[in-house]
Amino acid sequence: MSNYQYCILKLIIDYIRQNKAIDLKFIDKIIEIVVNEKGLHDYVKKFQPYQDDFVISYNVITKIISGNIENIIKDIPQEFFYLNYDDRMLNNFSHVAWCTIHELYHARDYKKCIINQKDIETKILRESYYKPLIKNYIFLRDRPRFPFVRKRICKIQENRYQLYKSLWHFAPFERIANIDAIQDIVSIAEELRSYILWNYMTCRQQNFYLNAYNLLKANNITCSPTKFYLEKYDKKRQGEFIEKMGKNLPFIDRLRLGLEIKETASETLLLNLIKK
Ligand SMILES: [Zn+2]
Repeated sequence: MSNYQYCILKLIIDYIRQNKAIDLKFIDKIIEIVVNEKGLHDYVKKFQPYQDDFVISYNVITKIISGNIENIIKDIPQEFFYLNYDDRMLNNFSHVAWCTIHELYHARDYKKCIINQKDIETKILRESYYKPLIKNYIFLRDRPRFPFVRKRICKIQENRYQLYKSLWHFAPFERIANIDAIQDIVSIAEELRSYILWNYMTCRQQNFYLNAYNLLKANNITCSPTKFYLEKYDKKRQGEFIEKMGKNLPFIDRLRLGLEIKETASETLLLNLIKK
């Protein structure tokens, strides 16, 4: 397990031992640990608590992670009513750590896009999210004096947001942030030898890997989640190029990036997890 994962584990254990509730300091500390590890000092500002009705988010323009701590806590899945106190606490803290790390991984991915690495992952991230978002923002920012333009752009933004919401399960940047953040929690559970937590988090991880594929399959759509997502944004050509680029990647990497897989996804994923 990596050093930063160990720091997160220690933080969670300290809170549980001291019988402390999840608070702002806990989230601040997670942010501090991951920012140091991933070199995100220029990409993440201090956590900003919000009273709004959303849960937690990262803004690539302001570089602020903001959220409503009450909603974050309300959002913790409580599927194990039979858990003992320690396991329940472990589940609660792990979930809050996971959703904070998820947002931090958006910052990490944004950094990759800015420094313009040439790898396939950065290409996918740039095509799927950051480029259109930033382009829209700059356009809007530079034209505040013309209300009619502003109105038109707001409409475009609104349409884009609705599309984003409907495609959330296929969005490469959401899938990658989910998969990588849950991997941190799986590693922590392994180190703790907490079978219940490990089992649950591994199930969630598999779900993050497979959900988009299964949704497409259920609707008889044959292309990959990433290609499907890009096509919805009129980027069919880019989707095909990315598929070619990732043709020879190992199975698990193709799955993580949402590329086409020939194998029966769930079976092969299970085999790969066992082999790990
Ligand atoms: Zn996200």
